[in-house]
Amino acid sequence: MINRVLTKVFGTQHERDIKKLMPRVRAINALEPAVKALSDEALRAKTEELRSRLASVLEGVPEEDRKAARARALDSLLEEAFAVAREASVRALGMRPFDVQLIGGMVLHQGKISEMKTGEGKTLVATMPVYLNALAGRGVHVITVNDYLARRDADWMGKIYRFLGLTVGCIQNSLLDDERQKAYACDVTYGTNNEFGFDYLRDNMKFEIESMVQRGHVYAIVDEVDSILIDEARTPLIISGPSEENTDNYYRCNRVIPHLVKGSEEKDKYGNKTTTGDYLVDEKSRTAVLTDEGVAKAEKYLNVENLYDLTSIDMLHGTEQALRAHALYKKDVDYMIKDGQVLIVDEFTGRVLPGRRWSDGLHQAVEAKENVKIERENQTLATITLQNYFRLYEKLAGMTGTADTEASEFHQIYKLDVVVVPTNMPMIRADHQDVVYASEREKYDAVANEIVELRERGQPVLVGTVSIEKSEHLSGILKGRKVPHVVLNAKFHEKEAEIVAQAGKPGSVTIATNMAGRGTDIVLGGNPEAFAEHRRNEVSSPEEFARMLAELREKAAEDREKVLSEGGLIIVGTERHESRRVDNQLRGRSGRQGDPGASRFYLSLEDDLMRIFGSDRLQKIMRRLGMEEGVPIEHGMVSRAIERAQKQVEGRNFETRKHLLEYDDVMNRQREEIYSLRRDILAGRRSKEEVLALSETVLDYVLGRHLAEDKGPSEWDFSAFDLDLKEYYGIEPGSLDFAGKTREEIREVLSGTLQEKYETKEKFLGEETMRLHERFVMLQIVDQQWKDHLLAIDHLKEGIGLRGYGQRDPLVEYKKESFELFTLMKERIEDQTLQYLFRLQPVLREAESDIESERRAPVPMPRRRAANVNYSYGAAASGGQDARVETVHRASPKIGRNDPCHCGSGRKYKKCHGAAAAGA
Ligand code: ADP
Ligand code: MG
Repeated sequence: MINRVLTKVFGTQHERDIKKLMPRVRAINALEPAVKALSDEALRAKTEELRSRLASVLEGVPEEDRKAARARALDSLLEEAFAVAREASVRALGMRPFDVQLIGGMVLHQGKISEMKTGEGKTLVATMPVYLNALAGRGVHVITVNDYLARRDADWMGKIYRFLGLTVGCIQNSLLDDERQKAYACDVTYGTNNEFGFDYLRDNMKFEIESMVQRGHVYAIVDEVDSILIDEARTPLIISGPSEENTDNYYRCNRVIPHLVKGSEEKDKYGNKTTTGDYLVDEKSRTAVLTDEGVAKAEKYLNVENLYDLTSIDMLHGTEQALRAHALYKKDVDYMIKDGQVLIVDEFTGRVLPGRRWSDGLHQAVEAKENVKIERENQTLATITLQNYFRLYEKLAGMTGTADTEASEFHQIYKLDVVVVPTNMPMIRADHQDVVYASEREKYDAVANEIVELRERGQPVLVGTVSIEKSEHLSGILKGRKVPHVVLNAKFHEKEAEIVAQAGKPGSVTIATNMAGRGTDIVLGGNPEAFAEHRRNEVSSPEEFARMLAELREKAAEDREKVLSEGGLIIVGTERHESRRVDNQLRGRSGRQGDPGASRFYLSLEDDLMRIFGSDRLQKIMRRLGMEEGVPIEHGMVSRAIERAQKQVEGRNFETRKHLLEYDDVMNRQREEIYSLRRDILAGRRSKEEVLALSETVLDYVLGRHLAEDKGPSEWDFSAFDLDLKEYYGIEPGSLDFAGKTREEIREVLSGTLQEKYETKEKFLGEETMRLHERFVMLQIVDQQWKDHLLAIDHLKEGIGLRGYGQRDPLVEYKKESFELFTLMKERIEDQTLQYLFRLQPVLREAESDIESERRAPVPMPRRRAANVNYSYGAAASGGQDARVETVHRASPKIGRNDPCHCGSGRKYKKCHGAAAAGA
């Protein structure tokens, strides 16, 4: 049987979308009697049956066709899976999903946004597509706006999943890695966007594949999708820490250099080459390398046993950079010192390049040489926008009561289409026109009067404000009039959910900012289950509890009648939000499931939106219409003008988000490349063959550099060539005889030598240890270089803002420069991979297990790093942050820069009104 409402007409595009789904609704309904007849065990057994049918369809399908085949196969199981999930819901929760809920679920399965009004039961809607898609065994993620809702929904809906034999996990901020891993291994995982996003970033900082917690991004359903993908998407997730963990090293290495003596390459009377001194310099090719004597001296002064040992990588690198700083970089030629800072001088123009830094520790080495302070600034260690995190999923879907106003953004950024699903019962809430007062004072007077009147009638009222400050202001007025009420400001999700659940009781007055209690259902007459739960510890036995619950239910039913007869829940808005969507959210708290209700916004000409965006024209109109003290204006023209202002702000905010994304997209490709390189290394997919192939590539480069093909041997620069061979491969100058050889022959000799050198090392260490060694070295290099690159990008971004580009587009410049930086970084990764693998002399420790244990408890770096890491959350989680943020950004009294802004936007103060105050 099809709900009557569904046959009615509504908006054309959406109507067509939904019409297409109707046959499937009928098919699911047709399966109901058969499914109903199954025993609990037989119903549960359906899960195994569907799984194996899916598996058999996929059997033998080649990898490249698998994705499409899987999608098709899952879709063909939809009717049955939905029928099974619906019946499980009836048995486990006592709720039978309505037909509109089946439709909502199908929209989610299609990877679209289901717009379903508040109270339509979206939590339950998600279970059907989740069940269906979880059959593939690759994990389904459900994203909620806060930890409390993740827990609530995982527990609540978990009953259905567990009934059907699926496992359910829930990520909470407090979880440790192994607990997270377990939660992600479940068929279904609930958690917040911040947790999912940070786990992704953290996973890509790990040193072992086994310690990664996530296992891929297959299918995600985002609840309150507008809040997460739009409101929170304005600020990226960032993990930050000091850019220099140990600046001491640079000073230590720097002190070594004055003890070293510059030498040269010499030929003895037999024509054999030897070196003198502690280091060699070739100014033309800007190279400087330590000789063996130099290394020995450095070891002495640094008090290090063996610089070429794996554990001394930092010191070796530091010494080499210090040597370059001294031997190749000249003050007032290559750089200048100003205000205690090392500023790079452009070698072509002679102009200072502010904000630029040399990479790879060179800048720090020069700072140490000049004895200025080495900046331990806070830098980005990993970052991603929510947009790019959610684009990782093969399939993404969302649900909310308010998506349609932002449909074009969803489409453009996420390729998500919005389908408006009709309500189960006709919506009968009366949305009244705005009333506008001349001053804020008159407005609040009117609001207070209205509240008093409603309360006397016993009608519940929910008052929405745009900020905590305004909530408090109104609360003060109500206190003055002795009106009992509660104030919520999205700080304590769990407690507030409890309070909001009771906001439908007769005569209750609830003041809330827009995110407070979002996701909690307001039942007219109150929610007896939640209330009983709250008072659970007042009773001592289950029987008593049952009795109490029954009493509360009876009372609630009575109260419900009373509230219904008065006209349901009243929504009073005290100001228009920047975004129409948020106003609609507030209105949507009333009139759920066909309940009566009403809403009205009270505005004044002094409201921010009216002051800033309501044009002078509006003010004039208002005056013409006549504004008497305490008498409001109610006029369609005013409402339209306000809506125009809102659209304007919405558009501007969209631009901000698009802008952020455009910048992040550049970074995104680089991030993906590096992350996948890292994974390859961790999985042992970067083989010895690749190292050797790389050594040949670089060999060709070195040959080309010094032994040019189009020049004869007399013009070849053998001494510079020798230095490069020493630097890249640790080949001693003079140890190979190139005299009288052609370029090809030289190449041959070197190629053989490299191969041999590597094999010897491998024989010495043993194959397995050599692989560990390779992995370890490469990972160190990639991480160090990537971190360095992120620092450079931070500076670039800052610089882009400062430098004038005339007619040029800063984004284009940014793309170009960041691409160059990235290319250079990749070259450095290659260079250093060779340098370290060929030159490091691993020492076999007493017990083989030493390297082994290093693998288990990876390099000290990440641990040190972990202790210093900051997690900065996007839009500070809808005004209610997680504890970790608060400990990281210790708030100063009054309003801290990182506190949620007083306006209730959920953004940090510094990003919101603080930015405006700072004149930004
Ligand atoms: P939404 O997220 O859409 O605002 P919720 O998921 O919070 O709505 O559900 C609102 C209320 O509706 C909940 O109390 C839930 O128990 C109830 N509900 C949802 N679906 C059904 C159903 N099919 N039958 C009975 N009650 C339902
Ligand atoms: Mg909800």
